[in-house]
Amino acid sequence: MNGLRPTSRTRGAKRDDRLEARPQMKPEQPQEKSVQEEIIELRKQIEWHSKLYYQKDSPEISDWEFDQLFKRLLELEAQYPHFVTPDSPSQRVGAAPSLEFKQVTHRIPMQSLQNAMSEAELVAFDERVRKAIEKHKEITYVVEPKFDGLSASLTYENGLLTIAATRGDGSTGEDVTANVRTIKSIPLRLDFKKNGKRRPEPASGQTLDLFADLEDEQVESILEIRGEIFMPIEGFNALNEARAAKNEPLFANPRNAAAGALRQLDPKVTASRPLDFSAYAIGESKGIDVNSQWELLALLKELGMPVSDLARKAIGIAAVIELCREFAKNRDSLPFDIDGVVIKVDSFALQAELGEISRSPRWAIAFKFPPRRETTQVVGITEQVGRTGTLTPVAELAPVRVSGVVITRATLHNEDELRRKDVRIGDTVEVQRAGDVIPEIVRVILEKRPQDSKPFVLATQCPSCQGPIVRSEGESARRCINASCPAQLKEHLTHFASKRAMDIENLGSALADQLVDKGLVRNVADIFYITYEQLLTLDGFADKSATNVLASIDVAKQRPLARLITGLGIKGVDEGLARVLADEFHTMEDLEQAALTPLEANSKAEDPLLNITDVGQVIALSIRDWFAQDSNRAMLTLLRNAGVRMDSDVSIIERDDRFLGKTFVFTGTLTKFGRKEAEELVRQRGGKTSSSVSQKTDYVVAGTEAGSKKTKAEKLGITILSEQEFLDMLQD
Ligand SMILES: [Zn+2]
Repeated sequence: MNGLRPTSRTRGAKRDDRLEARPQMKPEQPQEKSVQEEIIELRKQIEWHSKLYYQKDSPEISDWEFDQLFKRLLELEAQYPHFVTPDSPSQRVGAAPSLEFKQVTHRIPMQSLQNAMSEAELVAFDERVRKAIEKHKEITYVVEPKFDGLSASLTYENGLLTIAATRGDGSTGEDVTANVRTIKSIPLRLDFKKNGKRRPEPASGQTLDLFADLEDEQVESILEIRGEIFMPIEGFNALNEARAAKNEPLFANPRNAAAGALRQLDPKVTASRPLDFSAYAIGESKGIDVNSQWELLALLKELGMPVSDLARKAIGIAAVIELCREFAKNRDSLPFDIDGVVIKVDSFALQAELGEISRSPRWAIAFKFPPRRETTQVVGITEQVGRTGTLTPVAELAPVRVSGVVITRATLHNEDELRRKDVRIGDTVEVQRAGDVIPEIVRVILEKRPQDSKPFVLATQCPSCQGPIVRSEGESARRCINASCPAQLKEHLTHFASKRAMDIENLGSALADQLVDKGLVRNVADIFYITYEQLLTLDGFADKSATNVLASIDVAKQRPLARLITGLGIKGVDEGLARVLADEFHTMEDLEQAALTPLEANSKAEDPLLNITDVGQVIALSIRDWFAQDSNRAMLTLLRNAGVRMDSDVSIIERDDRFLGKTFVFTGTLTKFGRKEAEELVRQRGGKTSSSVSQKTDYVVAGTEAGSKKTKAEKLGITILSEQEFLDMLQD
């Protein structure tokens, strides 16, 4: 996850144990029983540690160690697919893509709620409830936040998540089980036994025995849990930022983003999106014994389901209204979007008595918050230059307060959107905080348009550098193509120093602006050559602040390769892909070499970039383009000369002089381990690995069906090892 190093040597020892055991395994008689035991043990550990991590936020092991457990499980399951079970944590990374969603009929329809748009309507609702049950005393209600996401139904059979479906039209939804399995807060298996009794929580330090009482649980139990799938605002922002960096269209709000993520035919895409879930109801159920909504929420929580801790009990409608006001007041400070409050009669007996009316329950109502829109005037239209040169038209607004936040600008997204909405300077417009994040213009109020107004004409030159602007066919973005455009450089420098890249503390956009404007930085590498005296010439800098910035810059020199790659700002290479590239190539030199290898020299299958699962044609081309530019390679030289680290975290567990500093290339099929595992064994001993053969290669390990790499190694006179010889080398 983030390159943490192992804290002890025990892992290395474990690996060696396995290694010694392996060669004795005969392929025709695999020790299936011990493999199954290992798989079960791994799953238990992974479930336990991810529970600590995701639900309790108190991990006991490092991310690196967790990744190792996970990798081992994936490896074993790939080798022994018949041991894969639907509740294996491996299913969370996403199953194979499907062509369409299957339909699921809800055995109990998922009803929609009546809405209340005002407090008066809440009072009327309470009167109807009390009249219907002929009681005049105060009713006990449960008041819950109304998540702005998508309703979903999760069916657990004997504690196991078997079907997840969207609400659809209420009676038929879509089967999104594979996608929902990737949502980490949703348990794949409930701590559930018959009669709703739960399995005891293991004491700290003990592992959770998920497979105990398995026979006992053959008693049939069904529990259909309903709730909302949503995307937290922080995750939504990060997703949109990543999309902006890749020039992909942005999601308008977290709900749209959640819907887009859930309706992916490829569950791996869903797995990469930050979805969350909050349970609030049950549908069909057997073996559950609760009498009220309040008890139900408590039970769901006990079973391990995520349940909002914002739910409150209220006696009488006055108390309900008080809570609604509180929710409305606090909605902006919540880490997720809510679009209202749901009010339910607490008692299930009363709910049954009240029944339903025109497909809505009579015992519940949704209090909707008023939309967050205001009108204001457009005082100007400008274009912002992004890190990759993308121009985003922005409406400059007369300041207006929209639900607590003063808005002075609203995005117009791109040229087409500007044309479609026909926003003009002087227009009165309705603005809203879309998804509470990026303010946008909802519509132009045409009645208020000045008579002499003219359609806005976009500039033909970059507002920052006056360079030419192009719009490529099939792209929605206009782009400044001047490589030394100062606006792009400012954005790039800010990105380079950001938390996700080189993490240079104290270097934000304000300092980046000054450094570029004063000509102290002409490319991001220059930041490592800034002097104390130069910093003192900047506005607001004194001895202490200058010293602090220099110290932060110095610390950043030691960031691992993945962060440096992220910081380079290669189009299409985000944090995730940067990590993949760093894991694959380990040094900047090897990545550069791969990117500069002429494409013709390799068949597609042999291309070191295209060989990586996550790299497609477009990204491979983008990486090649980047390294092909002289200015970029010159920048790398500057970075290198400044002492910036150019390799990834290597955890040498067992230093071995025969491996130390030697470069290994693997080719063909290995029988005793996967290629990744073999490469890791080399690196753990201090060796290096590469995906292509060159003069710098020390050993080529050739498995069966070794191809052109072996031939090339023979030509270059490089030592070729058989798998057995490599194995002997490891074990001596
Ligand atoms: Zn420009």
